[in-house]
Amino acid sequence: MKTIALFGGTFNPVHFGHLRMALELKELLELDEMRLLPSRQPAHRAEPGASAQARRDMVALAVENCPQLQLDERELNREGPTYTVDTLEELRQELGNNVSLSFCMGLDSLLGLPAWHRWEKLTELAHLIVVTRPGWQIPQGGEVAELLAQHRGEPEHLRSEAAGRILLREQTLLPISATGVRKLIRSGRSAQYLLPERVYEYIQAHRLYQRREQL
Ligand code: ATP
Repeated sequence: MKTIALFGGTFNPVHFGHLRMALELKELLELDEMRLLPSRQPAHRAEPGASAQARRDMVALAVENCPQLQLDERELNREGPTYTVDTLEELRQELGNNVSLSFCMGLDSLLGLPAWHRWEKLTELAHLIVVTRPGWQIPQGGEVAELLAQHRGEPEHLRSEAAGRILLREQTLLPISATGVRKLIRSGRSAQYLLPERVYEYIQAHRLYQRREQL
């Protein structure tokens, strides 16, 4: 079965932490496609730092020379609030039921999953690839522990089943955050070598993240 994974985020801006994680997951899990999925900002909040268009452009530049990674801009084109479950439903309709779909998230997101819109539907539509960091504990009780007990899977399930498994992966995170990048730029310091050169040039050309209200 064809395997497609989504790596969501605000990517404000995209940096080497995101890109290495997406690339490593794709290679280690032998996935056919890994798509970066920039999310819309909640409509009631001012967009911090960069417009949706700029965040999209930066991801496009970041993956331009990387055939293993793709940009999926569907959430930016959709009006109204962004819910992951809607995105997965749309993809299911597009791809049919004979494609394996996975959504990547950190363990912190998994722990907060019961607050997500129609969260119980997520594992009907896709697998969840959960990246754990050393020091995090898997919950021993509660809704998330039950979900894990029911759905825990292994890498081979990603190719043999279309959805429904939760895979835990311990993976090294580069110590880079978009907040850190924005703060460096705001304080007049260099963010070079934390993100692709072309993305850094784009930030400079468009004077992103330079004013306090852009943080
Ligand atoms: P911010 O600092 O603005 O919160 P961020 O750098 O954490 O941003 P997001 O766009 O919020 O980036 O994150 C998108 C996804 O990338 C999330 O799943 C997040 O867990 C993951 N991620 C963030 N930083 C790293 C990193 N250094 N290495 C690997 N994955 C990361």
